Amino acid sequence: MEQITRPFGWNVSKIDFLIMYITFFIALFFFFYGFYRHFKVWSIGKRAKVNINFFSYLTNALFQKKVSERKFGIFSHIPIFWSFVILTITTALVGIQMDFGIKFIYGNFYLFLSFISDLAGILLIIALILALFRRLFFLPSYLRNILEDNLILILLLALAVQGFLIEGLRIAYFKMEFEKVSFVGYLISNLFYNFSKEEISFLHRILWNIHAWTTMLFIAYVPYSKLSHIFTSTLNLIFYQKQPSAKHDVKTNLIEIMNKESFNEDEIKTGYKYIYDLPWFKLLMVDACTICGRCTSVCPAYLTNKPLDPKRIVLDTRDYAYEYIENKEDKVLGLVVGEDALWSCTSCGACVHACPVGINQLDLIINYRRGLVEDNNYPSQLNNSYRGMENQFNPWNAPKNERYKFAKELNLIILKENPNYEFDYLLWMGCAGVYDSKSQRTIKALVNILNKANVKFAVLGDEEKCTGDSARRTGNELLFQTLAYENVQTFKKYNINKIITICPHCYNTLKNEYEFFGIKLEVYHHSEFILSLINEGKIKVNKIAQKIIFHDPCYLSRHNNIVNEPREILSNVGSLIEADRNKKNSFCCGAGGGRMWMEEKIGKKINIERTEELLNKNPDLIAVACPFCNIMISDGVNRKNANVNVVDIAVIVSENLT
Ligand code: SF4
Ligand code: SF4
Repeated sequence: MEQITRPFGWNVSKIDFLIMYITFFIALFFFFYGFYRHFKVWSIGKRAKVNINFFSYLTNALFQKKVSERKFGIFSHIPIFWSFVILTITTALVGIQMDFGIKFIYGNFYLFLSFISDLAGILLIIALILALFRRLFFLPSYLRNILEDNLILILLLALAVQGFLIEGLRIAYFKMEFEKVSFVGYLISNLFYNFSKEEISFLHRILWNIHAWTTMLFIAYVPYSKLSHIFTSTLNLIFYQKQPSAKHDVKTNLIEIMNKESFNEDEIKTGYKYIYDLPWFKLLMVDACTICGRCTSVCPAYLTNKPLDPKRIVLDTRDYAYEYIENKEDKVLGLVVGEDALWSCTSCGACVHACPVGINQLDLIINYRRGLVEDNNYPSQLNNSYRGMENQFNPWNAPKNERYKFAKELNLIILKENPNYEFDYLLWMGCAGVYDSKSQRTIKALVNILNKANVKFAVLGDEEKCTGDSARRTGNELLFQTLAYENVQTFKKYNINKIITICPHCYNTLKNEYEFFGIKLEVYHHSEFILSLINEGKIKVNKIAQKIIFHDPCYLSRHNNIVNEPREILSNVGSLIEADRNKKNSFCCGAGGGRMWMEEKIGKKINIERTEELLNKNPDLIAVACPFCNIMISDGVNRKNANVNVVDIAVIVSENLT
């Protein structure tokens, strides 16, 4: 009975082996030297303790969850990844048997290995051809077309094709029936049907050598090309520090430091001014970029022709880090990546959400902004809102003593006047809620709903100050911390721990960022709260015959995972329709990240782009759940002369209460 296995190294001379091992060690030298350079770049960074995140490794590195969110990822990267893994394992097993003389590849195990490696090989070839085809003929605008990317695909393709040819020649030489299990190699063996044994042996030996050298070239090339992401992206996912994507904490409590009798200027630096201000794992993070361009493809600034490309923020940082290890020349990072790019960001988080390898572009942008603001280098248009937050405690720079003016008619319980009042929730009005007429309407509607449901709540009146969201997002950390610290003292004074807010920006800041100042708040966005009132039967709404489209605020859906609540409310009232970009893939209104306080002079206006998308669905009503979105989308509708109302969900519910 024929033995089910194959001869290993049957046609390879000692010289061939010797050359292979010499080139192997040369390749290993280049491989390790290349990764030593990567390591050198990471080691520029500050020391920091990080947790290992096995979950992120399993979901995104091994099971490619994020990659599979796009069709092309499913048909191309996933087969390439898994085929590569399988073929590396099978090649390593063959190497062990050959080099150590341990015979374990025979019988059913041999058949299994032969089948699975042929399957992996053919999938690899199909996926590589697809990728190459896309790059050559259907290259999306957010991807670069450079020779290196195509050469990598060609190199991998060459390895896979060589492997099959070598297998086909061996099968043709030995003509074993059981080799049918290697279905691709068996098919290829037919090509050599008329060849003599000598010819097959000669061809096999030549190809074996070429294959060995190509493999060595591949090994040596990995750390110097974007193939290095096989290791860097995996490591980045292992060290991925999970936190809400708009939580931009710093390590330094500036208030404590400033209260000391004396302190060093360096102690109050919080941003990334120079490359060595980044912690080591953030340098690993920029080094992990696969240049897939997914972040670019969803960036509202990039898509409306602003000078911001989140991928470039990452790559420019990475390239400069490599430059720095050579010449040690200090450059301000904000200037390296470009000020116009930095100030174009709306902090929408679309890039962070899209990245398949755990890169946080927004974190870099906020920290680079901090680095610039520490040098007093920021757009002069921010001066008015900075002055407003400093002196009037609101970015509108409206008089602080008028903060409570509009709400007087609502007869709310103000804690300063009723310090012993027992309440369950603080209604956080927010600066927009008190100074912007559209949001005043939202507050009135919410108060009506809360009263109808007999919710015991109170307000801070003019003791409430801006949360500091715009200050933090624009890099003015000292201003943010000052406002946050003062609000936290007020919360502590009145024992406040449950807050309802109409503003996703306040929601994010209070919920995720105030903890740093020693308070843990239970924060509810009004959409969550209203839905719970509906579900508990405390309020009831009438159904209206209107098509309502919901515009997701970035700080609600993407940054804070509140996606279904507004939709459930709106489905109770009218018939909900969806925009093309919705839920966590929604498109920004253009006002976040401090952009509310800066004029949008370059490119198409982001709010117009979004409004057009919403109007394309012919809604009767556009529902919003954020004061900034309300202002921006209303402006968009006015500019388009469209006859559609833009209203907050609280107003829709309030006007349709039974
Ligand atoms: S946060 Fe939004 S605007 Fe800023 S770079 Fe990312 S995608 Fe672009
Ligand atoms: S940062 Fe992430 S999403 Fe953007 S190009 Fe790099 S790997 Fe792709």
